Amino acid sequence: MPANKDRILNEFIKLVSFDSESYHERKIADYLIDELGRIGIEAQEDRAYEILSNEAVIEKNSYNAGNIFARTPATGSGKPLLFSAHMDTVKPGNGKRAIVQEDGRITSDGTTVLGADDIGGIVAILEMLRVYKEDSIPHPELEIIFPIAEEPYGQGSRVFDYTQIKARAAFVLDLSGSLGRAAIAAPTIISFTIQIRGKSAHAGFCPEDGIHAIAIASEAISRLKNGWVSEDTTLNIGTIQGGTQRNSVPDYVEITGEIRSLEHDKALDQEKHVKEIFDNVAKKYGGEAAFESTIQIKSYRTSKDSEAVKRFEAACLKIFSKEGELIETYGGSDHNHFAQHEIEGIVVASAMQDVHTTSEYTTIDDLYKVAELAIELGRSTV
Ligand SMILES: [Zn+2]
Repeated sequence: MPANKDRILNEFIKLVSFDSESYHERKIADYLIDELGRIGIEAQEDRAYEILSNEAVIEKNSYNAGNIFARTPATGSGKPLLFSAHMDTVKPGNGKRAIVQEDGRITSDGTTVLGADDIGGIVAILEMLRVYKEDSIPHPELEIIFPIAEEPYGQGSRVFDYTQIKARAAFVLDLSGSLGRAAIAAPTIISFTIQIRGKSAHAGFCPEDGIHAIAIASEAISRLKNGWVSEDTTLNIGTIQGGTQRNSVPDYVEITGEIRSLEHDKALDQEKHVKEIFDNVAKKYGGEAAFESTIQIKSYRTSKDSEAVKRFEAACLKIFSKEGELIETYGGSDHNHFAQHEIEGIVVASAMQDVHTTSEYTTIDDLYKVAELAIELGRSTV
């Protein structure tokens, strides 16, 4: 395939150099709009940050950007396809630099993430678009979304306007691990906060006058099963804070946690279960448990007969000389939101390892292979 290794590496280094932590994607967004323009594709930017600030999800800042959207007309047969990779990184992501090691690995300097999550995906999509132009490779109509704020449960793609999207098949280049792998299922994620209110009293003089919030919390948690609650559902109590001093009956505890399930209804059942247990235990002690939750993303499962999977299988045979590996993931991505809009897609491994750590790395070969894969995924097949 005619992907250009030097160009891929140089672009990766360039994109890593932009600070683009979630909700601070302005610089990388400007670069991508310009770069798409140089390829001959006009890009648009939406006002996702306005919507998110109106929802009080974020405070507006001067580094905000919107989701970038671009469309390139068909030059060959096939139904429209959507390609996507997110612009933001997790923290610590400011001042990051791509360092090319002698063995071909690319790392940060050890003080930041590298940002291969998800710059590897962006680079592959740009290279695909360039190669299609340069080599006149026929392709169906292509729609490209570079969302903001994927890391905080895909906030950018959640508020994107899908009425403009024609593609019913999507490739989201945003999965860590071995190349040739793709996720066909991902969970519903429900986050929750529980505020337990008891009553304070002197712990030595009159403990009987108090309502012990920590006792409520611990009894409720001990009645729950943390970890796998069934074969496709997890529960995690993640943080707990409460009490003010050693010799007072604690009157307040705050707990945060998360439920994930590949079956949306099972996530809702588990949420109900957690709420009921805290309610019942709080009542038993004469206290109160206020439960607040948010469905951050909804689960999806993509059919193995879908166009995205079929194209992926064929592309893996060609590029990796082996069958693609289809997996279920317990991580979310922008595809969780795409899937709510009649888009059937997969999340494709895209040259990123040890993500969300300062040891994150990729390799020159993997970046090149993902670009080749993208070129194969998006071209006309007949
Ligand atoms: Zn990612």
